[in-house]
Formats: sequence, structure tokens, C-alpha cells
Amino acid sequence: MKVEIIKCLQDNYSYLIIDEENQTACVVDPGESKPIINYLNNSKINLKFILNTHHHYDHVGGNLELKKKYNSKVVGFIGDENRIPEIDISLEDNQIWKQDNFEAKIYHVPGHTSGHVAFHFFKEKKIFTGDTLFSLGCGRIFEGTYEQMFNSLNKIKSLPEETKVYCGHEYTLNNSRFCLKHDSKNLNLKKKIENIKKRITKGLPTLPSTIKEELDCNIFLRTKDFESFSKLRDLKDIF
Ligand code: ZN
Ligand code: FE
Repeated sequence: MKVEIIKCLQDNYSYLIIDEENQTACVVDPGESKPIINYLNNSKINLKFILNTHHHYDHVGGNLELKKKYNSKVVGFIGDENRIPEIDISLEDNQIWKQDNFEAKIYHVPGHTSGHVAFHFFKEKKIFTGDTLFSLGCGRIFEGTYEQMFNSLNKIKSLPEETKVYCGHEYTLNNSRFCLKHDSKNLNLKKKIENIKKRITKGLPTLPSTIKEELDCNIFLRTKDFESFSKLRDLKDIF
């Protein structure tokens, strides 16, 4: 199983999870269809599933066209059945979704939206976190409560440290400035920032990250308690 990172819209990432054995793929959060189609046109890969972490347009914008073209099935959270376009398969919190060689556990991680989920491909040790966990940051709280977001991040951060983290946006460099401001003595963070900058100058994505790197560097995962988390989230909104 390999993951191709595909840039969408302004700063979104969509991910193709490719089963090379069967020449099939899932796409996570296609914000638009074109870049996905461009990739698939040069291959013999059949796009079987579209996985959506949440209903925002920049994560589902490609659903309809991709489904029409490839006859894919759209997979999302049962609580968002009414707002994920073209949904075919509705999943519950903690459910394990298995189709062919694809196998992921679904975590309901509300906060950014009330129906946000993360897809954990536990055999491959990869998690797709949408707009809940970003590298060096976390999503804005739009629909949920601060407490929900805090608990959702705690759920994700308890995964094995080597788990690779695939986020919905390229926000890492901007996020790093906020982390540095509030955690200026963190050497791991400084090292990661050097690395990020190198990748960006080469035009490469700063993702995936890992749970370990985020535990070491992401201020939102490093806060000791709920109060300081809430305060940081507020400060980030006006940063
Ligand atoms: Zn969003
Ligand atoms: Fe988004």
C-alpha cells in the first residue's frame, strides 16, 4: 500500500491510497477532481472509494465528478449522511471499515465540525486527520466545543508514535511560527522547522508527519491541561 500526495485547490492535500496488488485506490478528501483525474489518467489504477473526513467544500468538492467517472463509492460518517455529497457507505465511531485490502478504523473526532472523522489505516500505521490535527497545529473550532477538540486530539495522540500523520492542509510553516512563539526553547521544534523549510524550498510537502514528531513539537498536543489548550486555541485564531 502506498500513499500519493496530491495538491488540491490553494493549500489542500488529497491522498491516494494505492493497493498496488489489485491496482485499486481510495482517495481521501478530494477537494477537486482534476488533479486526481490527472494522476489516474497516467495509470491503470481504478478509484474504488472516496473517503471524506468532513463535509467542508475543500474536502468533498471532487466527490460527484469522481464518482461519475470511476463509479467509486463515497464513504463518510453516519452523523454527516445529510451533508456529505453522494455518500454511499456510512460508518460509525470506532467501526472498522474493510474492503479488499483496505482496512481502516474510524474515529469520530468532533471539534472542527460536529461530524469530523479520522481514518486510521492501522496495519500500515497511517492516519488521515483532515482538519482536526495539522502538523504543528490543529483545526479551528467551528461547530464543536473546545472540550470536544481537546478530547479528539487526545484520542489521536495516543496512537503508536511511529504512526504517520496525513493532514488536510499545508499549514505547517505558518503553524510553526505560533509554536515557536509559545515554546521557544524547544529544540525538537527548531530541528523540525529547519527540515520544513528545506522541504518547502524544494517544493515538497511537509507531510506526512508522525505522532512522535507532533508530540515533541506541536504546542496543541503539548499543553498540559484543557485550560491552556483553550487559551492557545483562542490566541491562534487571532495570530
Ligand atoms: Zn474544514
Ligand atoms: Fe479544510
